[in-house]
Order: sequence, then structure tokens, then C-alpha cells
Amino acid sequence: AEQELIRLDRLNIVGEMAASIGHEVRNPLTTVRGYLQIFQRKEKFIEHREQLATMIEELDRANTIITEFLSLAKNKKIDLQPGNLNATIQALLPLLKAEALHFGNEIHEEIGHIPMFNFDDKEIRQLILNLSRNAFEAMDAGGILTVKTYFENEKIVLAVKDTGSGIPKEILNKLGTPFVTTKASGTGLGLPVCYRIADRHGAKIDISTGLEGTTFTLRFPPVNPI
Ligand code: ADP
Ligand code: MG
Repeated sequence: AEQELIRLDRLNIVGEMAASIGHEVRNPLTTVRGYLQIFQRKEKFIEHREQLATMIEELDRANTIITEFLSLAKNKKIDLQPGNLNATIQALLPLLKAEALHFGNEIHEEIGHIPMFNFDDKEIRQLILNLSRNAFEAMDAGGILTVKTYFENEKIVLAVKDTGSGIPKEILNKLGTPFVTTKASGTGLGLPVCYRIADRHGAKIDISTGLEGTTFTLRFPPVNPI
């Protein structure tokens, strides 16, 4: 037990170090991004417009890597509270709709009748967001993202479905491993974060994928309806 304690402590230290380094790196990125945006509006930088846009994109990418890496490294305790998963989805919809619009995609919600249960609202939002982003990135314009909830065999089920190109075969058995990506500017951290969140909820993720698209299905542990 003592050894276990020591090990846990070390994990905490690494997590805390990662968190503070992340913070210290993000601040200067924010400052630089702010100045770049000012330059973008200046007449005299007009011939460097494209480079400025690229610089901002790259900063955003660095920021995403830090955020996603931190959510893996952090040893934050999970905050399970009784809640309504459908309400969590509703609250996310404006953000998802904005992203769908950006990609020229549609979003459908199929909200089922499900009981309240214990989950970490922030983490489940992050999970839905990561899965939805992957979905948008896998679809051409006109694609449809469906976010669905239902109750089956005493289990709350959350499904995120897309009409995209399917998951490349080469990476199917590596999914959930950090830094596995097929995207030029991917981080390969979105799914590992999802797997970790699912794991912390005792939930299982099933994937079905093919030429018609991909569905990620999350099944939470059985709950007794209140
Ligand atoms: P990233 O999105 O940064 O590449 P992820 O961990 O989120 O990293 O996803 C890893 C890889 O899994 C992606 O690069 C992509 O090849 C594949 N993938 C994930 N979700 C989907 C999806 N809905 N449709 C097709 N491929 C997907
Ligand atoms: Mg992703």
C-alpha cells in the first residue's frame, strides 16, 4: 500500500507539472495570437495575409495539442453528479451547429427517453465534442451528424454517427493510442481523450465503420431508473 501511495503521488506531480507548463506556454501563445490578429487588419501587411493566417492556425494547433495532452496527463478527480444527458447534449448544440455550418454539414438529434444518472458533465461534453469534430472532419459538405440517446438493457446509450468516409483500416486496431492520426494537422489525441473519459465512467465504446460512415456507441454501466 505504501508503494502504491508513492506511485500515485508521483503521478500527481507529473500531472501538476504538465498543467503548470501548459498554462505557462498557453499565455505567450495567446499574446502572440493577439498581435498577429492586429497585423492581419493592417494595410501594410496585406501581402502577408496568407502567412499570418497560417501562423494563427499553427498557434491554434499548438493550443489544441496542449489542451488535449493536459486532459490526458491531468490527474483531476472525476466529478460524477446526477444529471440529464439529454440536457448536456442540448447545451452543446449551439456549438455543434456552428461547427456543422462551418463544414457545410447538418446535425440531427435523436433524443430518447433516458433516466438521470451519474456522470461528469464537463468530460461528457468533451467526449461528444471530440467525436463530433472527427465526424465533421470525415464528411464532405452535405454530411449528416446524428447525436442519439436511448435506453437499452438498463443501459444509457449515447451514439455519435456520421455519413463520412469511414475509419481507415490501417489504424482500426490502433484507435485510442495517442498520436495516431491520418490528418495533416491532426493531433491524434482526440480519441485517446474519449477512451479515457469513457473508462472513467465505466463505459464501453463500440465502433462500427464502413463506406456509409462511422458510429461511435458509448454504453454506460447499468442504472436503475429512479
Ligand atoms: P485526430 O482527429 O487529431 O486525427 P483522433 O484521435 O481524434 O485524432 O482520431 C484519430 C484518427 O481516427 C483520425 O485521424 C481518423 O483517421 C480516425 N477517425 C476518428 N474518428 C473518425 C470518423 N468519425 N470517421 C473517420 N475516421 C475517423
Ligand atoms: Mg480528432
